[in-house]
Amino acid sequence: MGCRTAAGAHRGEEVYRDEFVVAVVSQHALSPGHLVVVSREHVRNALTMEEGLLAHMIRIARRLGLRLREVYPEAGVMLVFNNEAPCQTLFHAHLHVVPRYPGDAMDVNYCGRVAAEERAAVAARLRGERIQEGDAR
Ligand SMILES: [Zn+2]
Repeated sequence: MGCRTAAGAHRGEEVYRDEFVVAVVSQHALSPGHLVVVSREHVRNALTMEEGLLAHMIRIARRLGLRLREVYPEAGVMLVFNNEAPCQTLFHAHLHVVPRYPGDAMDVNYCGRVAAEERAAVAARLRGERIQEGDAR
């Protein structure tokens, strides 16, 4: 691995993990339930990654989105890769899985910091067998 970001992701509030990615609760959430799917190997972003990994990250993001909708039934789910300027600030590939709520008027440039206890609570709500199994309804 040899990458601080990948190592850091492993210390986050984990919701999902497999051979290629780890999904954790975002430390700078745009909304309650905001997750990030992080590549375990160092890759700069979606534009530079191998297509198989890209497809895998999106597949996992969809499972997480389905899970988010079970826990937050009113939510829509926005999937975002920021690739280079102006929005990418962390140059290690990560896919945002962002719940959107009716009337939320989201400002995508604002990321409030989420307290550790709150991240732990979100992860506890979202962890589940269905994410691991990839149940697509
Ligand atoms: Zn990295």
